[in-house]
Amino acid sequence: MELLRPSSVEELDGGVFVHGGTEVVPLLRDGLLEAETLVDVRGVVPRGVSDGVIGAGTTLGELEVEPSIPDALREACRLAASPQLRNMGSLGGNLLQSSRCWYWRLDYPCRLHGGDRCHARDGEHREHAIFANDFCASAHPSDVAAALVALGARLRTNRRELRVEELYRLPDEADRHTTTLEDGELILEVELPDVEASVYLKAMDRKRWSFPQVGVAAARVGGGVRIALAGVAPIPWRIDSIEALDNATPLPRTEWKLPLARALVGRALAQLD
Ligand SMILES: Cc1cc2nc3c(=O)[nH]c(=O)nc-3n(C[C@H](O)[C@H](O)[C@H](O)COP(=O)(O)OP(=O)(O)OC[C@H]3O[C@@H](n4cnc5c(N)ncnc54)[C@H](O)[C@@H]3O)c2cc1C
Ligand code: SF4
Repeated sequence: MELLRPSSVEELDGGVFVHGGTEVVPLLRDGLLEAETLVDVRGVVPRGVSDGVIGAGTTLGELEVEPSIPDALREACRLAASPQLRNMGSLGGNLLQSSRCWYWRLDYPCRLHGGDRCHARDGEHREHAIFANDFCASAHPSDVAAALVALGARLRTNRRELRVEELYRLPDEADRHTTTLEDGELILEVELPDVEASVYLKAMDRKRWSFPQVGVAAARVGGGVRIALAGVAPIPWRIDSIEALDNATPLPRTEWKLPLARALVGRALAQLD
């Protein structure tokens, strides 16, 4: 395998991007990702925070102690993974992490791997999605993505600008991807709007180092309130109000997430007041 270390966007020419490698390396090791060329993008992707713009190469560890960013984002970073992983893991890499569905990680030929069934729907789905779980029931694992969606943040890539929520799409028969990122598209920066108040609450199966069972980000932006959830749908999931949780379609052994989501959304909204 070849490892390239470009120092400018102009030098990019294919290959698999790697930043901190906390996701790429395990995927390569487990045969879930193949790469002839790895492209270490640390010399290309900006790092650091300035005037509401965050370099996508900034680590979660740097963001969890960054006083200038909204509370929801700082808290989502602080509650993610472990100190070692936050020290290596970048913001851009976090937004693009793969499904944690155990069938997917064990390389079952499920729909997200291009197959014709969702093994979780028929099998074990205790940690899975309670919204949009028809085709694929995996639960999006990124605390950070939910926070950025609630904040109404925008992304700048080497090709376009988009809202963070536009980075994500539900997989379907024609296209199994859960993001809209094109081949060779590199996330460079995240731009935050002015936020009046924000909060991130997370339920975990232990106190630390755990993916969200349910994560709730709420933000007061431009006089309105925005809410986004982690761990409840194949992509970060936006809801307009707590009543929207009535539309959830949990699988039999995932019903426990619904009262949890109700409690966390209620608490998050109360904290915004
Ligand atoms: C055990 C464990 C527990 C975790 N717990 C949590 C948790 O509780 N909450 C949470 O939110 N996350 C959690 N994570 C995810 C972790 O935060 C991410 O793995 C990390 O942030 C990824 O960053 P990275 O720089 O290491 O990404 P990499 O591994 O380098 O890359 C990840 C993906 O992003 C792509 N990529 C990287 N940078 C860019 C870029 N700038 N533009 C385009 N593509 C890019 C890569 O090609 C790859 O597909 C956990 C991870 C592990 C392994
Ligand atoms: S939930 Fe998604 S990733 Fe998991 S088995 Fe079903 S299709 Fe595959």
